[in-house]
Amino acid sequence: MEKQKEKGHIHPITYVINEIAQTLIEMGFEVALGPEMESEHYNFDVLNVPRDHPSRDMQDTFWIKGLKEMVLRTQTSSVQGRYMETHKPPFKILVPGKVFRNEATDMTHDFQFFQIEGLVVGEGITLAHLKGTLNHYLRKLYGEDVQTQFRPGFFPFVEPGVEIDMVCFRCKGKGCPTCKQSGWIEILGAGMVHPNVLEAAGIDSKKNQGFAFGPGVERLAMLKYGVEDIRHFSSGDLRVVNQF
Ligand SMILES: [Zn+2]
Repeated sequence: MEKQKEKGHIHPITYVINEIAQTLIEMGFEVALGPEMESEHYNFDVLNVPRDHPSRDMQDTFWIKGLKEMVLRTQTSSVQGRYMETHKPPFKILVPGKVFRNEATDMTHDFQFFQIEGLVVGEGITLAHLKGTLNHYLRKLYGEDVQTQFRPGFFPFVEPGVEIDMVCFRCKGKGCPTCKQSGWIEILGAGMVHPNVLEAAGIDSKKNQGFAFGPGVERLAMLKYGVEDIRHFSSGDLRVVNQF
């Protein structure tokens, strides 16, 4: 008998991107896209990261040989400037895409991964809107009983910046090796858009406020599916992806 052909299916990372995008689209967000090969201008300058700022090194950027001031984007935030220059607030966008970091790989770091950026700009936007949006989307992804905590964090393009933790999915907060006994797992960074970022795009920061968030999709997927090593997702090993 002829061997039955195996059917293809959607990659787990695509599943997670689709699920998040669906939730945000239901909340009125629109999809925006930008190039993976990006200018320093959009990847750093307009995001309030000065030329001599250590975060340009901290992010371990891939520079393009032979092309002046071009990089492989280190963050989907690079689309913020492009979008804000050409659209008037209010707007809500989501930006899914691949980003690149020139760093050694280990179980939780890879040199390429996906982010799904969210950006909301308009009059009277506050941190409470950010909190409400993120809590809603994390509940959709992980279930209604998700618990989060917001801590201060630093990113040059937001002020104030926050880091968001979720109660450890493994021990439910009791403490275990996965959460290093803290009961919490860091899931993403976010914050209120820095006035300099709005002004760089020609948006009046006295009148408009905004928030942005940019989780790594692989990280969200690792927590959702209990995958221990981020590198499994891009390994091309069908024994891994066929489990989903
Ligand atoms: Zn734990």
